[in-house]
Amino acid sequence: MALTPLAEALKQLLGRVPMPPDREQVPLTLALWRVLACDITATVAVPPFDNSAMDGYALRAKDVPGELVVSQRIPAGVPAAALEVGSAARIFTGAPIPEGADTVVMQEDALEQNNLVSVLGCVTPGAHIRRRGADIAQGSTILHRGRVLAPQDIGLIASVGHAEVSVYKRLRVAILTTGDELVEPGAQPEPWQIFNSNATQLATQLTALGCEVIESTLAPDCPRVIGDALERMAAIADCIVTCGGVSVGEEDHVRAQIEARGRLDLWKLAIKPGKPLAFGEVQGCPIFGLPGNPVSAWVTFALVVKPWLLRAQGATGLKRVVTMAQAQFDVKRPSNRQEYLRVTLTQEYCPASGSWKLKAVPTRDQSSGVLSGVSEADALAVVPLGATVAMGDPIEVLPINALLSPLSA
Ligand code: AMP
Ligand code: MG
Repeated sequence: MALTPLAEALKQLLGRVPMPPDREQVPLTLALWRVLACDITATVAVPPFDNSAMDGYALRAKDVPGELVVSQRIPAGVPAAALEVGSAARIFTGAPIPEGADTVVMQEDALEQNNLVSVLGCVTPGAHIRRRGADIAQGSTILHRGRVLAPQDIGLIASVGHAEVSVYKRLRVAILTTGDELVEPGAQPEPWQIFNSNATQLATQLTALGCEVIESTLAPDCPRVIGDALERMAAIADCIVTCGGVSVGEEDHVRAQIEARGRLDLWKLAIKPGKPLAFGEVQGCPIFGLPGNPVSAWVTFALVVKPWLLRAQGATGLKRVVTMAQAQFDVKRPSNRQEYLRVTLTQEYCPASGSWKLKAVPTRDQSSGVLSGVSEADALAVVPLGATVAMGDPIEVLPINALLSPLSA
């Protein structure tokens, strides 16, 4: 079977994203990383009135230089009277600019004595006034449908007075891990068994994307048990993620069980780690079949499943975060798979160029079963298909915090 480049697989997959889920209204405090289901329009201006950006004195610029009577005191949160002619108002950050004043002078640039204030130096008319609507104009659209809400967005929505927001419902995802060799953490393994690390790894990746993990089941390598679990999950989930048993070995039963109940595309992705990946549907429920090796499962989830899930939750316009670093390794033989090396990143000062360089150092063990290498890594360094890399070459790196974040594809 020919290897499918990642970009090609992604194009096909993202062409098969279902309609976004239903909407629900949630309080802003519960909206973090949820996907906005409608545009947000500002019914008020922000700030709603001209106000002072500094502690100081509000005055008319034309009255400077000169000594001005301090005719009122305006803390934030109280209304201001019109400014008496030839006077200044003592004013504080966030307080309304009195009618008639056109400038604020910082208190550091003024001297007040016996209720008279004089300005040291000259003033710039209009200085230190935050104008009504300078942040947000009344009636403008501040955020668009499809936005994944970060704390700053939630603050922005609060700043125009909404206490609740309409978001898409969370996708309900079921996880099926398979393998006779697996036992759940906390149980006692036989000497020939290992702990199921992928179930929790995948569940937490899903949770971080805002999905609701409604079930996680460990099945033995038994066609009937796997088939039953798939049917049950398909009836209650919006998406199923399976792990292990998806390639073409004698003990790989997941594929046949999916095909018996729906449709499946099995790709040999041209990526390393993470070659076998299946996508299809079981009784109408979309299903991903990930490889069992923990690093392969992690990488294929982050690179392939995540963009699909975010779109399926209604997210739009997400970009992949890519940074350049200097390879601290070489790749002498070109490969027919795009390789994602686990690397740590260090900033080093380069006296010759007088600049800082980001250096990518591979973690100790790059095998697809070695999860500690991912845990240690700061990023995945991308060795393109068919490319070689010489020590010191510039290379693209995908920071892990961005790979896991619902804010980037
Ligand atoms: P498979 O894809 O089922 O052929 O599994 C490939 C490798 O990944 C084998 O060494 C499995 O023991 C291991 N593996 C499969 N599933 C898991 C899992 N859920 N947690 C940890 N290792 C796994
Ligand atoms: Mg297996």
